[in-house]
Amino acid sequence: FLELEGLRKSYGGHEVLKGIDLSVARHEVICLIGASGSGKSTLLRCVNALESIDAGAVRLDGEVVSGAGVDVNLLRRDVGMVFQSYNLFPHMSVLDNITLAPVRLGGLPRDRAREGALELLRRVGLEERADAYPDRLSGGQQQRVAIVRTLAMGPRVLLLDEITSALDPELVAEVLGIVRDLAAEGMTMLLATHEMGFAREVASRVCFLHQGCLLEQGPPEQIFTEPREERTRMFLKSII
Ligand code: ATP
Ligand code: MG
Repeated sequence: FLELEGLRKSYGGHEVLKGIDLSVARHEVICLIGASGSGKSTLLRCVNALESIDAGAVRLDGEVVSGAGVDVNLLRRDVGMVFQSYNLFPHMSVLDNITLAPVRLGGLPRDRAREGALELLRRVGLEERADAYPDRLSGGQQQRVAIVRTLAMGPRVLLLDEITSALDPELVAEVLGIVRDLAAEGMTMLLATHEMGFAREVASRVCFLHQGCLLEQGPPEQIFTEPREERTRMFLKSII
């Protein structure tokens, strides 16, 4: 469904992704783990064309969606991304934050976009906050709005980059709960996380990145209890 083939990316002389091959099936939840600087964010950003790639290809449903000549607005409608810093527009209400792209880019009538946004807000328990401004919301609530804003475009794949890293521990659970719900609904997701407990619970497959290489991948039970690679073992040991 989503295929990465031989992805390479360098910054200056520093090769950050050294030929990543990864094939993601529909409804799969892939967790990318690995040390800081191993290339997790860069990988996600390349999938979404936030970074250009030096070699290789990204395919969605068999269609190449990387490289020149790709309509990035169309691509980002299919492949939504949520970041560690929620990046909500501070001068817009929650509802306007969510409906902006569907109306401007998606060509959805304003009242339809509004209905859709309210329905999504209901699902994450925030419908009463539709008219609030982001600075009136907790970090966890802002991140839930950011997820809803991405969902409002009707993506087929979600990329989530450390979406709980900026949150106070007591707010992490509410955001992880939404990811869990999305997984249960069959959303295809590719997420970078430092939360091994969460990866273990939600991932259908865990991928370990080491210095720009996909060193090992497998079901969470296998990766976390009997990793094949010494590097994976060392990484897991270093974080507990
Ligand atoms: P973390 O766990 O800290 O988020 P990561 O696995 O997401 O790390 P990346 O952010 O993908 O790592 O970075 C991989 C490497 O690429 C790092 O060495 C980083 O310094 C480098 N890098 C990332 N973005 C840029 C950039 N825009 N310009 C130059 N180097 C970059
Ligand atoms: Mg990162």
